[in-house]
Amino acid sequence: MTRKNRQAARVIGIDLGTTNSLVSHFQAGVPHILANELGEELTPSVVAVAADGQVLVGRAARDRLITEPGSGCAFFKRDMGTSARYHFGGREWSPVTCSAAILAEMKRIASLRLGTDVTQAVITVPAYFHDAQRQATVEAAKIAGLKVERIINEPTAAALAHGYRNPDQETRLLVFDIGGGTFDVTLLEIFDGVVEVKSTAGESRLGGEDYTDALCQWLESKHDWKPDPRQQGLWRQRVETAKRLLASRESVEIDIDGSTVALQRTDFADATAAITARLRPVITRCLRDAGISASDLDDVLLVGGASRMPVIRDFIIENLSRLSSSKVDPDRVVALGAAIQAGLCASDDAVSDLVLTDVCPHTLGVEMAKPGVDGRPIPGFFAPIIDRNTTVPTSRSRLFHTMHPDQNIIEVQVFQGEARLTRDNQAIGQITVHGVRQQPGQQRPGEVEIRFSYDMNGILEVEVTVLSSGRKKTLVIEQRPGCLSQAEIDEAVLRLQPLKFHPRDLLPNRARLERAARVYLELVGPAREHLNAVTDAFESALESQDALLIKQSAAVLDTFLRPFFEHEREADPIRHEEP
Ligand code: AMP
Repeated sequence: MTRKNRQAARVIGIDLGTTNSLVSHFQAGVPHILANELGEELTPSVVAVAADGQVLVGRAARDRLITEPGSGCAFFKRDMGTSARYHFGGREWSPVTCSAAILAEMKRIASLRLGTDVTQAVITVPAYFHDAQRQATVEAAKIAGLKVERIINEPTAAALAHGYRNPDQETRLLVFDIGGGTFDVTLLEIFDGVVEVKSTAGESRLGGEDYTDALCQWLESKHDWKPDPRQQGLWRQRVETAKRLLASRESVEIDIDGSTVALQRTDFADATAAITARLRPVITRCLRDAGISASDLDDVLLVGGASRMPVIRDFIIENLSRLSSSKVDPDRVVALGAAIQAGLCASDDAVSDLVLTDVCPHTLGVEMAKPGVDGRPIPGFFAPIIDRNTTVPTSRSRLFHTMHPDQNIIEVQVFQGEARLTRDNQAIGQITVHGVRQQPGQQRPGEVEIRFSYDMNGILEVEVTVLSSGRKKTLVIEQRPGCLSQAEIDEAVLRLQPLKFHPRDLLPNRARLERAARVYLELVGPAREHLNAVTDAFESALESQDALLIKQSAAVLDTFLRPFFEHEREADPIRHEEP
């Protein structure tokens, strides 16, 4: 084993699932899942306290919960990042302490299997987890004695596992991830060892458990019967089993109030149609953000236990006109990807050619005020600066001005979210800037440029420049506190520096506009109009700071301009390189 391989073995991957969790590691170029002491790769994400006070985790906890529903807790991943509290075993538990118990168990399994104390981990979370949920995950890891090397999105991990198995395939892939409690879709492109996330969308409260709940309710109402509250756990377990059996059978039998009734696959589809209908808008949003249609997809990768349900497969055929060709087990693919990421974190030689790019899952912006009808400012509006699904690292800026000539202070409040009003988004930081009022002889009074620079580790640097004086003030928002040391944060901020140019100021773009201005002088009539239109389109793309838009409109402008410079190119091919 090389030194690097040895390091990789010590960073483990953890898929902290709503229903089950898995632990994995990367060794000798291969990702592996580590089985628990029962020989099982899936450990139920359930915590309970036994009658003698012992804390139980996994299968033992799940079994205890069936017979003694108040003795523990499951599905707490759904409450991560909230102030939810549970009471069992004579004490109070939070989603973080429950998750910490699972993570500690994962650490224990890995340490046992690898024969060494494991202290570093890559943990996967749903792509649509917002930062409070990610921070809660990091906190849970800390309690469990694990340093989080990287939090990665579950679908990205799945794509990594898929890309690693099929290194020569160029694929536009939709990862359809439906677990017990969450639903995410992510669009990725895989080429030459690069896994590039294009867009992601999701619903944090939609998953296999909702299907089980809907089936329970449908059966109860159809048979006009309710289980005794003490039997609720057993009843739900029976319905869960029926749901799973329907993945491989057309019909199953279920015991209701002492009599056996038949349940068809079509009954299940009817009982859960309202839940299935909630999948479509998420897919539409993801495809729209990436600017592609369903027919452009090469493959669909199914992830999560609930993707085994025939209603999901039918939905995919109906809405995406294709079926997954992937042979990777939907329960294991995320953990395998986490192991590969662990290999990347430990700089394992076997993954040195692999590159992973990601997008920022939520829109980032600031609060602004708008003038009301009486001229008085109305605060509380969200002004986006980095749109969701922008490839990271990225840097974007926007100009703002004061509402009143005497205003000397601007409070920049930073938010993330998709709502029009900031009260519906999440506040993540604040910075106060003084000296904005006009001083004698100064230009551009009352104007500030707010620049956001965001990187793969969730470091957001906010830089506010007072345009009249050139004075700058910066704030670094660590979106996942505890993940990085101060030196790593400083390094990340430094790496963002080269990105901090407005595209309109970059030399190739300026040169392109100069050329367009030169050709404009030579033209008249429709040709001149045409050049005007393509130049306008390029200029507005520059203002949008959208890399893809800039690339596309630059290509159109270059095609128009090229014939006018052919003769110069022939005369001196080096000096007249295209911008
Ligand atoms: P996960 O969070 O990925 O472990 O997914 C767990 C969810 O998948 C639970 O809601 C299970 O009920 C569901 N699930 C697992 N296996 C099956 C199956 N064969 N058929 C239907 N649902 C399943």
